[in-house]
Amino acid sequence: MSVTLTGGAVEALFDASQADNEHVLQLLDIRRCSSVSGPPRYRLKMSDGQHFLSCFVLATQLNNLIEENLLVPNCVCMVKKTINNTLRDGRHVVVVLDMEILKSAEETGGKIGNPTPYNPTGKTSSSQFSASCSSVPASPPSAAVPGPSYKNNSSHEKGFVGKSPMKASPMKAAPLKASPLKASPLKASPMKASPMKVSPMKASPMKASPMKASPMKASPTKATSDSPGSSSKVISIAGLNPYQSNWTIRARVTNKSSIRTWSNSRGEGKLFSFEILDESGEIKITAFNNEVDKFFSLVEQGKVYYITKATLKVANKQYTTLKNDYEMTLHAHSSIVPCDDSQGIPAVHCDFVPIAELENRDKDAIIDVIGVCKSAEDVSRITTKTSKEVSKRALNLIDTTGKVVTVTLWGEEAEKFDGSRQPVVAVKGARLSDFGGRSLSALFSSTVMVNPDLPEAFSLRAWYDQGGNAIDGQSLTETRSVGSGSKMNWKTLSDVKNEQLGHGEKADYFSCLATVLYIRKENCLYQACPSADCSKKVIDQQNGLYRCEKCNREFPNFKNRLLLSANLADFGDNQWVTCFQETAEILLGHSAETLGQLRDTDEAAFDEVFQKTNFTTHLFRNRVKLETYNDESRVKVIVMEVEQVDHREYSRRLLANIRKLAS
Ligand SMILES: [Zn+2]
Repeated sequence: MSVTLTGGAVEALFDASQADNEHVLQLLDIRRCSSVSGPPRYRLKMSDGQHFLSCFVLATQLNNLIEENLLVPNCVCMVKKTINNTLRDGRHVVVVLDMEILKSAEETGGKIGNPTPYNPTGKTSSSQFSASCSSVPASPPSAAVPGPSYKNNSSHEKGFVGKSPMKASPMKAAPLKASPLKASPLKASPMKASPMKVSPMKASPMKASPMKASPMKASPTKATSDSPGSSSKVISIAGLNPYQSNWTIRARVTNKSSIRTWSNSRGEGKLFSFEILDESGEIKITAFNNEVDKFFSLVEQGKVYYITKATLKVANKQYTTLKNDYEMTLHAHSSIVPCDDSQGIPAVHCDFVPIAELENRDKDAIIDVIGVCKSAEDVSRITTKTSKEVSKRALNLIDTTGKVVTVTLWGEEAEKFDGSRQPVVAVKGARLSDFGGRSLSALFSSTVMVNPDLPEAFSLRAWYDQGGNAIDGQSLTETRSVGSGSKMNWKTLSDVKNEQLGHGEKADYFSCLATVLYIRKENCLYQACPSADCSKKVIDQQNGLYRCEKCNREFPNFKNRLLLSANLADFGDNQWVTCFQETAEILLGHSAETLGQLRDTDEAAFDEVFQKTNFTTHLFRNRVKLETYNDESRVKVIVMEVEQVDHREYSRRLLANIRKLAS
């Protein structure tokens, strides 16, 4: 198979400020740059078959292509994404951000065509291939960041420590001095470390007025008029990389931490971080010490800002869930300016994981989830390991996968949550736990959104209201209470027999909607031990005393207890069940004591209670187990709960079943 190089690609890539379209080029040579620190940097000589150019620079995240010997001279590559930059000395480079090898050097078998050097007009390209290499910024200058060791600020990993306690007041701390118009681009340039020795007249156009001779101006950039400083252009977050020095981004603050302090052998300090978002992506920004004083009150969650001049470094993925290879640190020359025009800047960026998919994710993964809050526990107070009291509340979220997961909210979020109208709840950055199956916990850094203004929320709402609410939903989280919605295990009475429920090692539990056909009123009451916690049948000593074998005591009285045998039926089958005291009282509508009195005083009234109960329909939750007495095995069904039928809920379930059968 032969490949065709993209004619004119060298010129196109050199002239574009950034390119996202695909160009097929041949690699002619690679040079490693001498870098002071950080990962090695490589320059590439690329050819489009007509021209070649040596000023391509490989983004360090693609270094593996070289380290794995995939990117070797003569191979043919598809260059997918580039961004152009002008170095401090005015030379122009094309940074390759994404590429793919189409054909190995062996397959290609040598240089394709007879390309000549590309000589752009009006721009200084670096034609000396080997010598000029080292002035590519050696590394994102993260060494200058006065940051603490990350181990010391891991408090945001702990969850529920309370949200930002400080009210932001943007007016007081307006960073006037940090306005991009006033800040000197010379001092702020992160390319200071350049070891190049060049004549200052020639090599540093920045020496001249920054307004006039900014190297970014020389390149055909998409300068926009709404940039607050005319010396830099507004670019997208996705377009940021450490090779650029002169940029402005316009983005919305989506998550802001409170101020945290650290103290270790290297000193002490404070920091805060926030996340910003534009239509292209998101990035985390951290501020330390002076920058905390300067920016903390200015930065408000939900607002849009212009941000210029911060240090880009490789993201520490341990502490951020954002999908960005880089993160930012503010420095003395950074500027954050509020932007009134928030048009086109999305409010929040979530990467929702379907609930059913959670089973396949690793424990401790940080994920975004959205679902309808089917039910919510009441808020409760617990004491943490550090003896702090904190509020918690568990929500059961269901999504279109029909699976349910429990999400725990903490602190204020738990207290103010109102689940009564089954809202759509989205949690950005929740931690996945394998506690009791799969569950989620909101963290200090999480964003909890109730009925968020997101397309996913609208479609979930529609799904739920149009039938999703009838789905029982299988929970990924084990719940303690048998009666919780996720563990209903609806069965018809014939299912119970056909599926041989209770024949296994353990008892099975099922719920059914059934009608009482008949109740045996004979022997439905027995004389039980009057002690509070005992319900053992007592023996009438025929001397006015009643003996409890369990308590090993005789009593002058007894209490009446119910042990009811009832026959239940649904449309397909019937089943004998046993109701003990509480469920029998609910079913009959009278207490055991009242019934005992009636039996002894008014037999007609006593009979009527049973007559009235016949042919009533209820929801029964049952335990079923095969039991063996005297070599005879019988399935024994004990009613655990009796409830009134919620006809709306029941109809929804029937509709869902019909849909399931129809599909
Ligand atoms: Zn007793």
